[in-house]
Amino acid sequence: MKRGIVPGTFDPVTSGHLDIIERAAAIFDDLVVAVAHSPEKGGGPLFAVEERVALLEQAVSHLDNVSVLPFDTLLVDFAEKVGASVIVKGLRAVTDFEREFQMAALNWRLDADVETMFIMAVPEYMFLSSSAVKEIAKHGGAVRGLVPEHVASALERALNTAS
Ligand code: ADP
Repeated sequence: MKRGIVPGTFDPVTSGHLDIIERAAAIFDDLVVAVAHSPEKGGGPLFAVEERVALLEQAVSHLDNVSVLPFDTLLVDFAEKVGASVIVKGLRAVTDFEREFQMAALNWRLDADVETMFIMAVPEYMFLSSSAVKEIAKHGGAVRGLVPEHVASALERALNTAS
């Protein structure tokens, strides 16, 4: 039984994240999507961790070997705790590479039993990020196709409340 773990902040989940999750779900017996609390990232996330988990759960409801859990510890410790032996990350433009390379090396240093695997982003989503989506939505741009429908609605609600 091979269990993979897909970590991220998912603030909020985008079509790019979903593509990686779907492709990883087809490779592993099962998959845990691990949502980092990340209170410090970029002035704090827009969505609380519980909301990010709920948005993801709805987005992956068609995949019966995928579960979603929040975590607030070292990733390798969380991977061990849930019995996952492979960390799966999406790789976009070259700009992701240095950060991901460093994280993979550090995680390997912390626990060599946990492998890191990369899946290339599809060209369509190569430049898609949660921060770009939030920026577009904040200025009233259309995010349709960049995020699932229910995430687009949640963004609209969150940004209307925030302003
Ligand atoms: P972001 O960088 O969008 O804030 P996260 O911190 O939630 O996203 O990233 C979680 C993982 O998802 C990272 O490995 C990241 O490279 C990957 N990822 C994010 N956006 C995409 C995308 N559009 N295509 C493929 N992988 C992606």
